[in-house]
Amino acid sequence: MVIIGGGFGGLNVAKKLKSAAVQITVLDRRNHHLFQPLLYQVAAAALNPSDIAMPIRRILRRQKNTEVLLGEVTAIDATRRVVRLEDGELPYDYLVVATGATHSYFGNDQWARFAPGLKTIEDALLIRRRVLLAYEMAEREQDPEVQRRWLNFLIVGAGPTGVELAGALAEISRQTLGMDFRHIDPASARIVLLEGAPRVLPTYPEDLSEAAERQLTKLGVEVRTHAQVTAIDADGAVVGSERIPARTVIWAAGVAASPLARSLGVPLDRAGRVVVEPDLSVPGHPEIFVIGDLAAARSGGKPVPGIAPAAIQEGKHTAKNIIGEMRGIARVPFHYRDKGSIATIGRAAAVADLGRLKFTGFFAWLTWLVVHIFFLIGFRNRLLVLIEWAWSYLTTERGARLITGLPSAEVEAEGLCAPTGVELGQAPAPAPAGQADAPKNPPLKSTGG
Ligand SMILES: Cc1cc2nc3c(=O)[nH]c(=O)nc-3n(C[C@H](O)[C@H](O)[C@H](O)COP(=O)(O)OP(=O)(O)OC[C@H]3O[C@@H](n4cnc5c(N)ncnc54)[C@H](O)[C@@H]3O)c2cc1C
Repeated sequence: MVIIGGGFGGLNVAKKLKSAAVQITVLDRRNHHLFQPLLYQVAAAALNPSDIAMPIRRILRRQKNTEVLLGEVTAIDATRRVVRLEDGELPYDYLVVATGATHSYFGNDQWARFAPGLKTIEDALLIRRRVLLAYEMAEREQDPEVQRRWLNFLIVGAGPTGVELAGALAEISRQTLGMDFRHIDPASARIVLLEGAPRVLPTYPEDLSEAAERQLTKLGVEVRTHAQVTAIDADGAVVGSERIPARTVIWAAGVAASPLARSLGVPLDRAGRVVVEPDLSVPGHPEIFVIGDLAAARSGGKPVPGIAPAAIQEGKHTAKNIIGEMRGIARVPFHYRDKGSIATIGRAAAVADLGRLKFTGFFAWLTWLVVHIFFLIGFRNRLLVLIEWAWSYLTTERGARLITGLPSAEVEAEGLCAPTGVELGQAPAPAPAGQADAPKNPPLKSTGG
């Protein structure tokens, strides 16, 4: 059998089939499983990429019935029962498709260049680079208006990812960078969280949304609800008729299913997800299962949410159905067990919705911490993340504050502008002699706005 995708869904199918009499091929276009719930911490310079990712080959190394192949699946030929890769084909008897989701800019793909989304390690590193670079640019800028634009950060979308990012960016500006600059006050950075719906965390109960908004405001985030973004460019975003100038815009608003679903030729929902049968198989193709973020599954009459526990449960359930079928047992419909959701807001606050139990603040944050450490794959990762968190909790320092990549190449490629009249990579000018009150390293001279 073939499993496409070594994310939460695919990996759990493979693991559950460890002792089954099947030969499994796990295909993924990346060599690593990524713990996406902590991706924002890489974007916010709190964790390193390798803390939250692990080679799929390593995770499944002891599983003798499983091979792992690196490759991008371009299409599924359900009639011939083969998956197509860029450089060949692979036949299957059972197929599990678990290729997840990607960003959706609601038909405005031109915004992607100016407002990166957060889905992969590359996305997180790009966001980290832009955020840290913005402070560097502001430090060297003389024109106060241009400087202000570098210190404005917009986050579009106040779901869990947007809320978590906004809280983390506020902490970077208010706590982490405090003493590191000479010409700017990092705490004056404006972090604006834009949400089209009437409240943040729209899928959470109302009282938790209110608590989240209060916690964000306390951290210094400017929360704007009913805020429909109508344009994004290199200079900021337009909300209704108002332009909010900003050099850094981050997209946390929409998701769309992996495009691979289209090649199945079966009904998709509006987000491009495969409308699956109760046993998570594809209509007309009982040998193909679609799970995780790519599946539009229902349980107890309600849609199953696109979150990690749902993908994990669907993966395990699919494996059980396959084992059962090999023993002549009829398939069982999928039933989702909702264990609740938690969103964290900064270093020591969170909101938790665990069914009848709803709570906020430090205790919610502790629960979030325990859950994430528990689900993180690999003992090394758990230990490293715990140490990083403990360190940053005690010191407000962020261990991964590196600007990697070539800033000048990014400026050129991504439509970002250098400070006016300044060549990136140029050394700061020395202080003018004899000026007692001149700053030691004044910003480079600007040649205009
Ligand atoms: C920033 C962020 C934060 C999140 N926070 C939370 C949270 O706090 N709690 C929570 O429960 N959920 C959270 N989620 C959602 C959760 O991560 C997803 O629901 C979960 O990852 C879905 O699992 P999956 O197996 O369907 O897909 P994924 O985990 O996305 O895995 C898909 C895999 O398929 C591979 N792939 C894709 N296309 C191809 C192809 N054509 N060929 C080969 N391989 C391919 C990918 O490389 C990837 O490894 C978050 C998601 C994001 C992006």
